Amino acid sequence: MIVTIDGPAGSGKSTAARGLAKRLGFEFLDTGAMYRCVACGVLQKNVDPADEQAVTHVSQQIKITFSGDRVLLDGEDVSAAIRTPDVTDAASVVAQYPAVRQELVRLQQRAAEGVDIVSEGRDQGTVVFPDAFCKVFLIADPEERARRRHEELVAQGKQITLEAILQQINERDQRDEQRTVAPLKPADDAVEINTSRLTIDEVIDQLEQLVRS
Ligand code: C5P
Repeated sequence: MIVTIDGPAGSGKSTAARGLAKRLGFEFLDTGAMYRCVACGVLQKNVDPADEQAVTHVSQQIKITFSGDRVLLDGEDVSAAIRTPDVTDAASVVAQYPAVRQELVRLQQRAAEGVDIVSEGRDQGTVVFPDAFCKVFLIADPEERARRRHEELVAQGKQITLEAILQQINERDQRDEQRTVAPLKPADDAVEINTSRLTIDEVIDQLEQLVRS
């Protein structure tokens, strides 16, 4: 059984999808982490993220694995490295390239073979798992999404203004929504939930009810 959870940055997808998977006893797939791994590999190898051919080559050479909550790139734990602002920015650039997406979509579909899974990203309900059992699209106001991300970063000791985060989020949304391949949008049969005024537990409760109904 496959549950897809898509939505823009900071909509609460990752935490909600992870929590839902735990409650259901399903596997969890963070597909954003995969695009982040490609971006991380690209930056580590001093490849220009704007060089589509070179980026595609990197995406076909690297090995991405998950070990519990940890993300490994060619065997190295990059769980923290893939969350830096540089990698975050580069991830939405490399995610525009069709051959990169093709490669990652193949890996995502393979990860779901024969298991029950909650898969989270931007195109899980539209492209990767069009026949998923349950599809959700999470949204939240940009200001609320920026506030959440700001809180997260400040807790990690980072210094950044709320305005700077709001600008980054808007830029990233624009790139994700306007790209020609697999643009961010809800599947026709997705249930949309606005998480702006919900706690994470309330979001997970709604998701669980939806899957079990
Ligand atoms: O979800 P997360 O913020 O980790 O994703 C990082 C970037 O990866 C997104 O901004 C988006 O450009 C890309 N992405 C994507 N398709 C997915 C997951 C993420 O294009 N399924």
